[in-house]
Amino acid sequence: MSTGGTRAVRLTRWGGPPVITEVPRPVPTGEEVLIRVEAAGLCRSDLHVIDARPGSLPYRTPFTLGHEVAGRVVEQGPLATGPAVGERVVVYGPWGCGSCARCAAGAENYCDRRPALDADLTGTGAGLGRDGGMADLLLVPSGRLLVPVGELAAVQAAPLSDAGLTAYHAVATVRHATGDGTSVVVLGVGGLGHLAVQILRATTTAQVLAVDVREEALALAERCGAHFGTLPRPDSAAVLRDRTGGVGAVAVLDFVGSRSTLELATGVLRAGGELAVVGSGGGELSVRKPGVLPPGTRISLPFWGTLPELERVVALAREGTLKVEVERFALSRAPEAIEGLRSGGVRGRAVLVPD
Ligand SMILES: [Zn+2]
Ligand SMILES: [Zn+2]
Repeated sequence: MSTGGTRAVRLTRWGGPPVITEVPRPVPTGEEVLIRVEAAGLCRSDLHVIDARPGSLPYRTPFTLGHEVAGRVVEQGPLATGPAVGERVVVYGPWGCGSCARCAAGAENYCDRRPALDADLTGTGAGLGRDGGMADLLLVPSGRLLVPVGELAAVQAAPLSDAGLTAYHAVATVRHATGDGTSVVVLGVGGLGHLAVQILRATTTAQVLAVDVREEALALAERCGAHFGTLPRPDSAAVLRDRTGGVGAVAVLDFVGSRSTLELATGVLRAGGELAVVGSGGGELSVRKPGVLPPGTRISLPFWGTLPELERVVALAREGTLKVEVERFALSRAPEAIEGLRSGGVRGRAVLVPD
């Protein structure tokens, strides 16, 4: 590693591929905090960002990728608050305006000024239009965006900030509907889904039923505590309904969001059930009364999660309740990791570590 500069995985043009380049060492000013990155998770939404057509996302290139980041505070701006230099932290990824009612409540994922920020091409957060953590160093706008992780391993901590947090927020959206004798269906047991299974088991008494197109993902679901798993088949809806005692599932968490998963979701939901669409798989549902959705269905489109939820996710991980299935790649092998994720060759979460 050189002394003056620092490495970063940069998206220099839409369509990619991202390139590893040397960038100047960032200097924190004002409230900013500089983090030495210990681990950065790779997410399917990174692929959506890389592959985006020019003009389809409200971001300006170039920027450094990486919205799931853990590391150590190494330098603070003169007005910085929050964790001190030397503390190990995970970075809350959705960066809002920091001052609207949503942001004041820690829900920067639903910042009221987001449309204005998008219009200014300010970026959605770390690695999403603003320089992220697939790098040696990450400049964070404020210490309010940091959650201490203590001695939690960095490769475990980093994925908590998106895979863990988004899964937790999705479960929180439907938790009120769960209880003894109820069933929740998880569609897609990848980076987010395998954590959703664990969070459902830790925070609800519902039976957890998992669906994935890969046998090894079903094995992972079982290790995470799922009561039943199945590959998608023509009769999957009937098989799953049968597992619920014939009544259907009180909630479906769709981590894929494709046409086929949404179709399966409508087939297994109980009347008055909850459908949370988390994945951006391009599927569409038509809402009509009467229509394909069971009467009383509530639909939600959870996006990322809140700071208080990230604190709870970190607490679950630190007590050993939540374990992320991780495949490590050296930062210098980022292009390889990205291609591995694209081809479906990664089990659980791909995480980049410094080399
Ligand atoms: Zn993500
Ligand atoms: Zn805001």
